Amino acid sequence: MTAKIIDGKEISAKMRGEIAKDVAKIKAEKGIIVGLAVILVGNDPASEIYVKNKEKAAHAIGMNSYLFRLAADISQEDLIAKIHELNRNPNIHGLLVQLPLPKKIDTKKIIHAIDPRKDVDGFNIINVGKLSVGDIEGVDGALIPCTPLGCMHLLKEVIGKNLVGMKVLVIGTSNIVGRPLSRLLLLEKATVTIANSATKDLKAECLQADVIISAAGVAGLIRGDMVKKDAIVIDVGINRIATADGKGRLVGDVDFDSVRNIAKAITPVPGGVGPMTISYLLKNTLNCCLKIIK
Ligand code: NAD
Repeated sequence: MTAKIIDGKEISAKMRGEIAKDVAKIKAEKGIIVGLAVILVGNDPASEIYVKNKEKAAHAIGMNSYLFRLAADISQEDLIAKIHELNRNPNIHGLLVQLPLPKKIDTKKIIHAIDPRKDVDGFNIINVGKLSVGDIEGVDGALIPCTPLGCMHLLKEVIGKNLVGMKVLVIGTSNIVGRPLSRLLLLEKATVTIANSATKDLKAECLQADVIISAAGVAGLIRGDMVKKDAIVIDVGINRIATADGKGRLVGDVDFDSVRNIAKAITPVPGGVGPMTISYLLKNTLNCCLKIIK
């Protein structure tokens, strides 16, 4: 039997419909339009595409989206001053700085300048710390990074609510995906293994796992012979590979064709985790607004 394809696009569309209703309700009841601000420094082509997609998605559900384009040679002080200005702006409820930043800028200092209450990426140290200690509920709970939230949502679509005791292998330890995702899984009482590029026998780790979530950024890293029968495979990776026509093609970390014959369920790339990441950015922005106007 071939694996169920977990359709991130469809799940995402449903979620955005719900968010749009809440955005409209806030507008009708309070006269407030939920606002997301994105700062883009320089013109990295991949960042341009990501930012455009975020803007489009925000507009589509009735949010205001403000894009601030800043020159690649902006000083760190001027960038921080801009962030402080947006932190104070009452029309902006969520704020993110598109990464990566030019090398001369200290990314940590920039992220930490964002008001933790508007930090929709969940990268500010206050939010990272809260997630670390499991402080994720209520008005003061952590804002959690969008991609891990999207992965958890997709996983629960297959497993249901209960992840207790499941063996989950997370591949990748970045602050954007692997680490926050592992913390979320631990909070659900999953048994979590975290692999990185120095992991000695990735195949052996994979074969133990009920769930594999790969965020390594390596095309073809996970093949069918590495996956336990009926495991669930969530593919976070986005890799561009060459094609004969010279246009290239996006693939994940997982060799989809060989894994789909073994796994119980699998996310495609594109159309799996990617759309969920944007949906959780919108959801985080909505939640920021609800907390701020409370
Ligand atoms: P990163 O480069 O910061 O981290 C990669 C991690 O993978 C590191 O911890 C590294 O040790 C590990 N790794 C690399 N090669 C490995 C190997 N052979 N075996 C085991 N571990 C290995 O990357 P990131 O920012 O976390 O992104 C990872 C991937 O996820 C990229 O392809 C990125 O484009 C994609 N991504 C997708 C979304 C989305 O919304 N779908 C969001 C964020 C990142």
